[in-house]
Amino acid sequence: MPTNGGARALVAGNWKMHGTTASLGELRLLTTMLKGVRLNCDVLVCPPATLLMAAHRLTRRSPIGLGGQDCHADIKGPHTGDIAAEMLKDAGASAVILGHSERRTEHGETDDLIRAKTLTAQGAGLLSIVCIGESLAERQEGRTLDVITKQISGSVPPDASPRQTIIAYEPVWAIGTGLTPSPREIGEAHHHIRLMLAKLFDGHSAAIPILYGGSVKPANAAEITAIPDVNGALVGGASLRAADFIGIIKAYS
Ligand code: PEP
Repeated sequence: MPTNGGARALVAGNWKMHGTTASLGELRLLTTMLKGVRLNCDVLVCPPATLLMAAHRLTRRSPIGLGGQDCHADIKGPHTGDIAAEMLKDAGASAVILGHSERRTEHGETDDLIRAKTLTAQGAGLLSIVCIGESLAERQEGRTLDVITKQISGSVPPDASPRQTIIAYEPVWAIGTGLTPSPREIGEAHHHIRLMLAKLFDGHSAAIPILYGGSVKPANAAEITAIPDVNGALVGGASLRAADFIGIIKAYS
């Protein structure tokens, strides 16, 4: 069992910009594979927004929750091509990933913007999975913990509800590369995040799960699960195939 201060672990899959209706077959397969499995973690799948409603029909009688991959900081308005937190909720999502490194890099998202999005998502009743993590250059310069500190204090609102906030530590250089930090490095980062959360959220900090993300696969999931203060995983590539994703979920069962 992970050391998680009492919070239930979460295994979340981020499909990114992968998937058309044909990919729902994998989700259907996952619901079948999960039947009869005694789960020791919550399971979340974040498909592209276009698939949320159909995914909701498939999963509503299963233990699988659904999430979006981003939302706008405004509740509604003239933002062509964007998606509102309320729309995700309406389509069946209970959570949203915010500040993923791909959005920070490709869309120039700042900590301030991510904090605003987090507040909007929480106002809509969505659980926010706020992503943080250092680049390879930042790690090589020995700045990992400083970067994490700045990202947490900048993008997690101090008055955010701990019940509606999750942190995902995702070293940018480990995402989609097959590289992972050593268990000691992951443990050090998560311990630091736990200390930061204790400052921000006082006694509630133990209720905030800290997920690890970055090339989690069935082969390394159990080792990562066992690291103190790792309360689950945010999984990209290995969440696209039910056979791989279930291997990670079972590491928590
Ligand atoms: C991610 O994109 O959040 C991620 C962790 O991707 P991957 O598992 O493919 O490294």
